[in-house]
Amino acid sequence: MTQLESARKGVLAPEIVKAAAREKAEAGLLLRETAAGRAVVPANVNHKNLFPAAIGGAFTCKINVNLGTSDGRSGLKEELHKLDLAARLGADAVMDLSTGGDLPKIRKEIIAASPMPVGTVPVYEALKRAGGVRGISRQLLLEVIEEHAEAGVDFMTIHAGLLKEHLPLVKGRTTGIVSRGGAAMARWMAANDAENPFYDQFDAICEIFRKHDVTFSLGDGLRPGSLADAGDAAQFAELEKLGELVKRSRAAGVQVMVEGPGHMPLDQVELNMKKAGKVCHGAPFYVLGPLVTDVAAGYDHINAAIGGALAAWHGASFLCYVTPKEHLGLPELEDVRQGIIASKIAAHAADIARGRHGAAERDREMSRARYAFDWERQFSLALDPDRARRYHQGDVRKKYCGMCGPKFCSMRASRKLGKTVKARHTKAAA
Ligand code: SF4
Repeated sequence: MTQLESARKGVLAPEIVKAAAREKAEAGLLLRETAAGRAVVPANVNHKNLFPAAIGGAFTCKINVNLGTSDGRSGLKEELHKLDLAARLGADAVMDLSTGGDLPKIRKEIIAASPMPVGTVPVYEALKRAGGVRGISRQLLLEVIEEHAEAGVDFMTIHAGLLKEHLPLVKGRTTGIVSRGGAAMARWMAANDAENPFYDQFDAICEIFRKHDVTFSLGDGLRPGSLADAGDAAQFAELEKLGELVKRSRAAGVQVMVEGPGHMPLDQVELNMKKAGKVCHGAPFYVLGPLVTDVAAGYDHINAAIGGALAAWHGASFLCYVTPKEHLGLPELEDVRQGIIASKIAAHAADIARGRHGAAERDREMSRARYAFDWERQFSLALDPDRARRYHQGDVRKKYCGMCGPKFCSMRASRKLGKTVKARHTKAAA
Protein backbone atom coordinates (compact mmCIF):
# COMPACT_ATOMS: atom_id res chain seq x y z
CA MET A 1 0.00 0.00 0.00
CA THR A 2 1.38 3.44 -0.93
CA GLN A 3 1.43 6.43 1.41
CA LEU A 4 -1.48 7.85 -0.57
CA GLU A 5 -3.55 4.68 -0.28
CA SER A 6 -2.90 4.27 3.42
CA ALA A 7 -3.67 7.96 4.08
CA ARG A 8 -6.98 7.59 2.25
CA LYS A 9 -7.82 4.75 4.61
CA GLY A 10 -6.93 6.95 7.59
CA VAL A 11 -3.96 4.80 8.59
CA LEU A 12 -1.15 6.76 10.26
CA ALA A 13 1.91 5.25 8.60
CA PRO A 14 5.22 5.69 10.48
CA GLU A 15 6.52 7.88 7.62
CA ILE A 16 3.61 10.31 8.11
CA VAL A 17 4.19 10.43 11.86
CA LYS A 18 7.94 11.06 11.44
CA ALA A 19 7.55 13.66 8.68
CA ALA A 20 4.99 15.58 10.75
CA ALA A 21 7.04 15.37 13.96
CA ARG A 22 10.09 16.70 12.15
CA GLU A 23 8.41 20.07 11.72
CA LYS A 24 6.15 19.93 14.77
CA ALA A 25 3.02 19.65 12.65
CA GLU A 26 0.05 17.49 13.57
CA ALA A 27 0.26 14.00 12.07
CA GLY A 28 -3.51 14.17 11.47
CA LEU A 29 -3.06 17.26 9.31
CA LEU A 30 -0.40 15.55 7.20
CA LEU A 31 -2.59 12.47 6.92
CA ARG A 32 -5.50 14.53 5.58
CA GLU A 33 -3.33 16.58 3.23
CA THR A 34 -1.68 13.42 1.86
CA ALA A 35 -5.05 11.74 1.36
CA ALA A 36 -6.26 14.81 -0.55
CA GLY A 37 -3.07 14.89 -2.68
CA ARG A 38 -2.16 18.39 -1.48
CA ALA A 39 0.92 16.95 0.27
CA VAL A 40 3.29 14.13 -0.59
CA VAL A 41 5.66 12.12 1.57
CA PRO A 42 8.12 10.56 -0.89
CA ALA A 43 9.17 7.30 0.77
CA ASN A 44 10.18 4.38 -1.41
CA VAL A 45 9.76 1.14 0.53
CA ASN A 46 13.33 0.21 -0.48
CA HIS A 47 14.98 3.38 0.90
CA LYS A 48 15.81 1.96 4.30
CA ASN A 49 17.62 4.84 6.04
CA LEU A 50 15.12 7.50 4.93
CA PHE A 51 13.98 10.27 7.24
CA PRO A 52 10.82 11.33 5.42
CA ALA A 53 9.75 14.89 4.64
CA ALA A 54 6.30 16.37 4.05
CA ILE A 55 6.03 18.42 0.86
CA GLY A 56 2.88 20.50 0.58
CA GLY A 57 1.43 23.96 1.03
CA ALA A 58 0.38 23.38 4.65
CA PHE A 59 3.94 22.61 5.72
CA THR A 60 7.30 24.35 5.73
CA CYS A 61 8.72 25.00 2.29
CA LYS A 62 11.27 22.34 1.36
CA ILE A 63 14.42 22.63 -0.75
CA ASN A 64 16.11 20.19 -3.10
CA VAL A 65 19.79 19.93 -3.99
CA ASN A 66 20.84 18.59 -7.38
CA LEU A 67 24.07 16.62 -7.53
CA GLY A 68 25.53 13.91 -9.71
CA THR A 69 28.63 12.63 -11.42
CA SER A 70 29.72 13.77 -14.83
CA ASP A 71 32.31 12.10 -17.09
CA GLY A 72 35.77 13.53 -16.50
CA ARG A 73 34.47 16.39 -14.36
CA SER A 74 33.12 14.98 -11.12
CA GLY A 75 33.19 11.53 -9.52
CA LEU A 76 31.29 9.79 -6.74
CA LYS A 77 33.63 11.03 -4.00
CA GLU A 78 33.00 14.69 -4.84
CA GLU A 79 29.26 14.14 -5.11
CA LEU A 80 29.13 12.37 -1.74
CA HIS A 81 30.82 15.45 -0.23
CA LYS A 82 28.02 17.55 -1.72
CA LEU A 83 25.46 15.17 -0.26
CA ASP A 84 27.05 15.44 3.16
CA LEU A 85 27.08 19.23 2.94
CA ALA A 86 23.42 19.25 1.87
CA ALA A 87 22.46 17.18 4.91
CA ARG A 88 24.51 19.37 7.27
CA LEU A 89 22.99 22.60 5.93
CA GLY A 90 19.45 21.26 6.30
CA ALA A 91 18.44 20.48 2.71
CA ASP A 92 15.24 18.41 2.51
CA ALA A 93 15.88 16.28 -0.60
CA VAL A 94 18.55 15.55 -3.19
CA MET A 95 18.34 14.60 -6.83
CA ASP A 96 20.96 12.31 -8.28
CA LEU A 97 21.44 13.59 -11.83
CA SER A 98 24.55 11.52 -12.50
CA THR A 99 25.56 11.01 -16.11
CA GLY A 100 29.13 9.76 -15.68
CA GLY A 101 30.52 6.44 -14.43
CA ASP A 102 28.70 3.36 -13.19
CA LEU A 103 25.23 4.88 -12.69
CA PRO A 104 23.57 1.99 -10.77
CA LYS A 105 26.51 1.82 -8.32
CA ILE A 106 26.54 5.60 -7.86
CA ARG A 107 22.78 5.66 -7.27
CA LYS A 108 23.05 2.85 -4.74
CA GLU A 109 25.74 4.69 -2.77
CA ILE A 110 23.88 7.98 -2.83
CA ILE A 111 20.67 6.37 -1.57
CA ALA A 112 22.57 4.47 1.13
CA ALA A 113 24.22 7.70 2.29
CA SER A 114 21.10 9.88 2.16
CA PRO A 115 18.56 10.21 4.96
CA MET A 116 16.84 12.71 2.67
CA PRO A 117 14.44 11.58 -0.06
CA VAL A 118 16.34 10.95 -3.30
CA GLY A 119 15.01 11.84 -6.73
CA THR A 120 16.24 10.93 -10.22
CA VAL A 121 15.51 11.69 -13.88
CA PRO A 122 15.47 8.23 -15.53
CA VAL A 123 15.65 9.58 -19.09
CA TYR A 124 19.27 10.65 -18.44
CA GLU A 125 20.29 7.06 -17.83
CA ALA A 126 18.22 5.83 -20.78
CA LEU A 127 20.04 8.33 -23.01
CA LYS A 128 23.42 7.15 -21.76
CA ARG A 129 22.61 3.47 -22.20
CA ALA A 130 21.07 3.95 -25.63
CA GLY A 131 23.95 6.13 -26.80
CA GLY A 132 21.56 8.89 -27.90
CA VAL A 133 17.91 9.73 -28.35
CA ARG A 134 17.38 7.52 -31.41
CA GLY A 135 18.45 4.40 -29.49
CA ILE A 136 15.87 4.83 -26.74
CA SER A 137 13.09 2.26 -26.84
CA ARG A 138 9.84 2.26 -24.89
CA GLN A 139 10.97 -0.90 -23.13
CA LEU A 140 14.30 0.66 -22.11
CA LEU A 141 12.49 3.55 -20.40
CA LEU A 142 10.38 1.14 -18.35
CA GLU A 143 13.42 -0.96 -17.48
CA VAL A 144 15.38 2.05 -16.22
CA ILE A 145 12.39 3.31 -14.22
CA GLU A 146 11.93 -0.10 -12.63
CA GLU A 147 15.63 -0.32 -11.73
CA HIS A 148 15.52 3.12 -10.09
CA ALA A 149 12.39 2.13 -8.17
CA GLU A 150 13.95 -1.13 -6.98
CA ALA A 151 17.08 0.76 -5.88
CA GLY A 152 15.00 2.94 -3.52
CA VAL A 153 14.54 6.21 -5.45
CA ASP A 154 11.79 8.16 -3.67
CA PHE A 155 10.67 10.47 -6.50
CA MET A 156 11.32 10.57 -10.22
CA THR A 157 11.01 13.31 -12.80
CA ILE A 158 8.93 11.93 -15.65
CA HIS A 159 8.46 14.18 -18.68
CA ALA A 160 5.07 12.79 -19.66
CA GLY A 161 3.18 16.04 -20.26
CA LEU A 162 5.04 17.19 -23.35
CA LEU A 163 3.17 15.77 -26.34
CA LYS A 164 3.67 15.68 -30.09
CA GLU A 165 0.89 18.23 -30.54
CA HIS A 166 2.88 20.71 -28.41
CA LEU A 167 5.98 20.75 -30.62
CA PRO A 168 4.71 23.39 -33.11
CA LEU A 169 4.11 25.71 -30.13
CA VAL A 170 7.84 25.86 -29.48
CA LYS A 171 8.57 27.50 -32.84
CA GLY A 172 9.37 31.17 -32.40
CA ARG A 173 10.55 30.76 -28.83
CA THR A 174 13.65 32.71 -27.87
CA THR A 175 15.31 29.78 -26.10
CA GLY A 176 13.44 26.74 -27.44
CA ILE A 177 13.30 23.77 -25.06
CA VAL A 178 15.69 24.13 -22.13
CA SER A 179 14.75 21.06 -20.10
CA ARG A 180 17.23 18.27 -20.85
CA GLY A 181 14.51 15.62 -20.49
CA GLY A 182 12.04 17.73 -22.45
CA ALA A 183 14.49 18.27 -25.30
CA ALA A 184 15.24 14.52 -25.41
CA MET A 185 11.55 13.63 -25.58
CA ALA A 186 10.89 16.23 -28.27
CA ARG A 187 13.72 14.84 -30.40
CA TRP A 188 12.49 11.29 -29.83
CA MET A 189 8.95 12.16 -30.93
CA ALA A 190 10.20 14.01 -34.00
CA ALA A 191 12.61 11.20 -34.97
CA ASN A 192 10.03 8.44 -34.50
CA ASP A 193 6.95 10.40 -35.52
CA ALA A 194 5.31 8.92 -32.44
CA GLU A 195 3.74 10.08 -29.18
CA ASN A 196 5.82 10.67 -26.03
CA PRO A 197 6.58 7.18 -24.66
CA PHE A 198 6.25 8.39 -21.06
CA TYR A 199 2.71 9.52 -21.85
CA ASP A 200 1.88 6.40 -23.85
CA GLN A 201 3.10 4.16 -21.07
CA PHE A 202 1.85 6.21 -18.16
CA ASP A 203 -0.30 3.39 -16.74
CA ALA A 204 2.66 0.99 -16.78
CA ILE A 205 4.81 3.59 -14.99
CA CYS A 206 2.05 4.05 -12.40
CA GLU A 207 2.11 0.29 -11.75
CA ILE A 208 5.87 0.36 -11.09
CA PHE A 209 5.53 3.44 -8.87
CA ARG A 210 2.68 1.91 -6.90
CA LYS A 211 4.64 -1.30 -6.28
CA HIS A 212 7.60 0.54 -4.72
CA ASP A 213 5.76 3.68 -3.58
CA VAL A 214 7.62 6.13 -5.78
CA THR A 215 6.28 9.68 -6.07
CA PHE A 216 5.82 11.33 -9.44
CA SER A 217 7.56 14.63 -10.03
CA LEU A 218 5.88 15.46 -13.32
CA GLY A 219 8.54 17.23 -15.37
CA ASP A 220 7.87 20.51 -17.16
CA GLY A 221 9.71 19.79 -20.39
CA LEU A 222 8.45 23.04 -21.91
CA ARG A 223 9.32 25.33 -19.03
CA PRO A 224 10.39 28.77 -20.25
CA GLY A 225 14.16 29.19 -20.40
CA SER A 226 13.98 32.96 -20.75
CA LEU A 227 11.73 35.78 -19.65
CA ALA A 228 10.67 36.26 -23.26
CA ASP A 229 9.17 32.74 -23.33
CA ALA A 230 7.47 32.92 -19.92
CA GLY A 231 3.76 32.24 -19.88
CA ASP A 232 3.58 31.25 -23.55
CA ALA A 233 1.18 28.81 -25.19
CA ALA A 234 3.69 25.93 -25.01
CA GLN A 235 4.16 26.27 -21.23
CA PHE A 236 0.45 26.36 -20.49
CA ALA A 237 -0.50 23.60 -22.96
CA GLU A 238 1.88 21.25 -21.16
CA LEU A 239 0.56 22.40 -17.78
CA GLU A 240 -2.97 21.37 -18.81
CA LYS A 241 -1.68 17.92 -19.68
CA LEU A 242 0.17 17.69 -16.35
CA GLY A 243 -3.13 18.42 -14.62
CA GLU A 244 -4.67 15.42 -16.41
CA LEU A 245 -1.72 13.24 -15.33
CA VAL A 246 -2.12 14.34 -11.72
CA LYS A 247 -5.61 12.87 -11.77
CA ARG A 248 -4.41 9.64 -13.37
CA SER A 249 -1.59 9.22 -10.83
CA ARG A 250 -3.94 9.74 -7.92
CA ALA A 251 -6.47 7.33 -9.42
CA ALA A 252 -3.66 4.74 -9.54
CA GLY A 253 -2.89 5.33 -5.84
CA VAL A 254 0.43 7.07 -6.59
CA GLN A 255 1.59 10.31 -4.99
CA VAL A 256 2.31 13.16 -7.35
CA MET A 257 3.85 16.61 -7.43
CA VAL A 258 4.33 18.90 -10.42
CA GLU A 259 7.45 20.73 -11.58
CA GLY A 260 7.27 24.37 -12.55
CA PRO A 261 9.26 27.08 -14.25
CA GLY A 262 11.89 28.21 -15.01
CA HIS A 263 12.44 31.84 -16.00
CA MET A 264 9.67 34.38 -15.45
CA PRO A 265 9.33 38.06 -14.59
CA LEU A 266 8.48 38.86 -10.99
CA ASP A 267 5.01 40.13 -11.85
CA GLN A 268 4.03 36.74 -13.37
CA VAL A 269 5.06 34.58 -10.41
CA GLU A 270 1.86 34.90 -8.37
CA LEU A 271 -0.38 34.27 -11.36
CA ASN A 272 1.65 31.20 -12.35
CA MET A 273 1.50 29.66 -8.89
CA LYS A 274 -2.26 30.20 -8.65
CA LYS A 275 -2.85 28.83 -12.14
CA ALA A 276 -0.68 25.77 -11.46
CA GLY A 277 -2.55 25.09 -8.20
CA LYS A 278 -5.87 25.19 -10.03
CA VAL A 279 -4.93 23.31 -13.19
CA CYS A 280 -3.01 20.63 -11.28
CA HIS A 281 -5.73 20.10 -8.66
CA GLY A 282 -3.70 21.36 -5.70
CA ALA A 283 -0.75 18.96 -6.20
CA PRO A 284 2.43 20.25 -4.52
CA PHE A 285 4.32 22.53 -6.89
CA TYR A 286 8.09 22.06 -7.23
CA VAL A 287 9.76 25.07 -8.85
CA LEU A 288 13.13 25.33 -10.55
CA GLY A 289 13.92 28.88 -9.48
CA PRO A 290 12.04 30.68 -10.85
CA LEU A 291 14.70 33.04 -12.16
CA VAL A 292 13.28 36.53 -12.38
CA THR A 293 15.90 37.99 -14.72
CA ASP A 294 18.07 36.52 -17.48
CA VAL A 295 21.15 38.62 -16.77
CA ALA A 296 22.33 37.36 -13.35
CA ALA A 297 25.02 34.98 -14.66
CA GLY A 298 27.35 34.17 -11.77
CA TYR A 299 24.64 35.18 -9.27
CA ASP A 300 21.71 33.03 -10.32
CA HIS A 301 21.42 31.61 -6.78
CA ILE A 302 20.32 35.10 -5.67
CA ASN A 303 18.10 35.42 -8.72
CA ALA A 304 16.42 32.09 -7.87
CA ALA A 305 16.02 33.02 -4.21
CA ILE A 306 14.09 36.16 -5.17
CA GLY A 307 11.76 34.18 -7.44
CA GLY A 308 11.64 31.21 -5.07
CA ALA A 309 10.58 33.29 -2.06
CA LEU A 310 7.75 34.84 -4.03
CA ALA A 311 6.72 31.50 -5.55
CA ALA A 312 6.65 29.82 -2.14
CA TRP A 313 4.69 32.69 -0.64
CA HIS A 314 2.11 32.21 -3.38
CA GLY A 315 1.84 28.45 -3.14
CA ALA A 316 4.98 26.56 -4.23
CA SER A 317 5.92 23.86 -1.72
CA PHE A 318 9.34 22.78 -2.90
CA LEU A 319 12.24 24.82 -4.29
CA CYS A 320 15.01 23.36 -6.40
CA TYR A 321 18.21 25.10 -5.51
CA VAL A 322 20.20 27.03 -8.09
CA THR A 323 23.94 27.65 -7.73
CA PRO A 324 26.07 30.59 -8.88
CA LYS A 325 27.31 28.31 -11.70
CA GLU A 326 23.86 28.01 -13.31
CA HIS A 327 24.11 28.44 -17.09
CA LEU A 328 27.92 28.49 -16.76
CA GLY A 329 29.44 25.27 -15.42
CA LEU A 330 29.31 22.30 -13.06
CA PRO A 331 28.98 23.50 -9.44
CA GLU A 332 31.75 22.76 -6.98
CA LEU A 333 31.37 22.38 -3.23
CA GLU A 334 31.40 26.13 -2.47
CA ASP A 335 28.83 26.77 -5.23
CA VAL A 336 26.62 24.08 -3.71
CA ARG A 337 26.90 25.75 -0.29
CA GLN A 338 25.87 29.11 -1.70
CA GLY A 339 22.99 27.60 -3.64
CA ILE A 340 21.66 25.76 -0.60
CA ILE A 341 21.80 28.80 1.67
CA ALA A 342 20.15 31.04 -0.93
CA SER A 343 17.30 28.52 -1.25
CA LYS A 344 17.02 28.17 2.51
CA ILE A 345 16.67 31.95 2.82
CA ALA A 346 13.91 31.93 0.20
CA ALA A 347 12.05 29.04 1.84
CA HIS A 348 12.40 30.54 5.31
CA ALA A 349 11.23 33.99 4.17
CA ALA A 350 8.12 32.36 2.69
CA ASP A 351 7.56 30.31 5.85
CA ILE A 352 7.54 33.51 7.92
CA ALA A 353 5.04 35.15 5.56
CA ARG A 354 2.85 32.02 5.60
CA GLY A 355 3.01 31.68 9.39
CA ARG A 356 4.66 28.27 9.44
CA HIS A 357 5.46 26.81 12.85
CA GLY A 358 8.61 28.23 14.46
CA ALA A 359 9.67 30.36 11.47
CA ALA A 360 9.01 33.85 12.84
CA GLU A 361 10.08 32.77 16.34
CA ARG A 362 13.55 31.90 15.05
CA ASP A 363 13.88 35.45 13.73
CA ARG A 364 12.63 36.95 16.99
CA GLU A 365 15.19 34.90 18.88
CA MET A 366 17.93 36.09 16.55
CA SER A 367 16.93 39.71 17.15
CA ARG A 368 16.94 39.19 20.90
CA ALA A 369 20.38 37.58 20.68
CA ARG A 370 21.62 40.53 18.60
CA TYR A 371 20.40 43.06 21.11
CA ALA A 372 21.98 41.04 23.93
CA PHE A 373 25.27 40.70 21.98
CA ASP A 374 24.96 36.95 22.47
CA TRP A 375 27.21 36.00 19.55
CA GLU A 376 27.16 32.24 20.13
CA ARG A 377 23.36 32.24 20.02
CA GLN A 378 23.44 34.32 16.85
CA PHE A 379 25.79 31.86 15.16
CA SER A 380 23.60 28.90 16.11
CA LEU A 381 20.45 30.57 14.78
CA ALA A 382 22.02 31.61 11.49
CA LEU A 383 21.19 29.59 8.36
CA ASP A 384 24.93 29.23 7.79
CA PRO A 385 26.50 29.16 11.28
CA ASP A 386 30.03 28.54 9.97
CA ARG A 387 30.05 31.60 7.76
CA ALA A 388 28.47 33.78 10.44
CA ARG A 389 31.20 32.76 12.88
CA ARG A 390 33.95 33.25 10.33
CA TYR A 391 32.75 36.68 9.28
CA HIS A 392 32.40 37.93 12.85
CA GLN A 393 36.17 37.72 13.29
CA GLY A 394 36.05 39.27 16.74
CA ASP A 395 35.99 38.54 20.43
CA VAL A 396 32.60 37.02 21.27
CA ARG A 397 32.69 38.74 24.68
CA LYS A 398 32.66 42.22 23.11
CA LYS A 399 29.41 44.17 23.02
CA TYR A 400 29.83 45.45 19.47
CA CYS A 401 31.26 44.12 16.22
CA GLY A 402 33.66 45.24 13.55
CA MET A 403 30.96 46.72 11.33
CA CYS A 404 30.47 50.04 13.20
CA GLY A 405 32.98 49.63 16.02
CA PRO A 406 32.44 50.52 19.74
CA LYS A 407 31.97 54.26 19.28
CA PHE A 408 29.33 53.98 16.59
CA CYS A 409 27.55 50.78 17.68
CA SER A 410 23.91 51.88 17.68
CA MET A 411 22.63 48.90 19.65
CA ARG A 412 25.19 49.51 22.36
CA ALA A 413 24.12 53.18 22.49
CA SER A 414 20.47 52.18 22.50
CA ARG A 415 20.98 49.80 25.41
CA LYS A 416 22.81 52.51 27.37
CA LEU A 417 19.98 54.91 26.60
CA GLY A 418 17.47 52.38 27.91
CA LYS A 419 19.44 52.02 31.16
CA THR A 420 19.71 55.80 31.62
CA VAL A 421 15.98 56.33 31.07
CA LYS A 422 15.16 53.50 33.48
CA ALA A 423 17.48 54.95 36.15
CA ARG A 424 15.79 58.38 35.79
CA HIS A 425 12.35 56.86 36.18
CA THR A 426 13.42 54.93 39.27
CA LYS A 427 14.91 58.09 40.80
CA ALA A 428 11.79 60.14 39.97
CA ALA A 429 9.54 57.47 41.46
CA ALA A 430 11.60 57.44 44.67
S1 SF4 B 1 28.65 47.47 15.79
FE1 SF4 B 1 26.96 47.92 14.39
S2 SF4 B 1 26.59 45.98 13.32
FE2 SF4 B 1 27.86 45.51 15.09
S3 SF4 B 1 26.45 44.97 16.73
FE3 SF4 B 1 26.77 47.17 16.92
S4 SF4 B 1 25.15 48.09 15.70
FE4 SF4 B 1 25.24 45.95 15.10
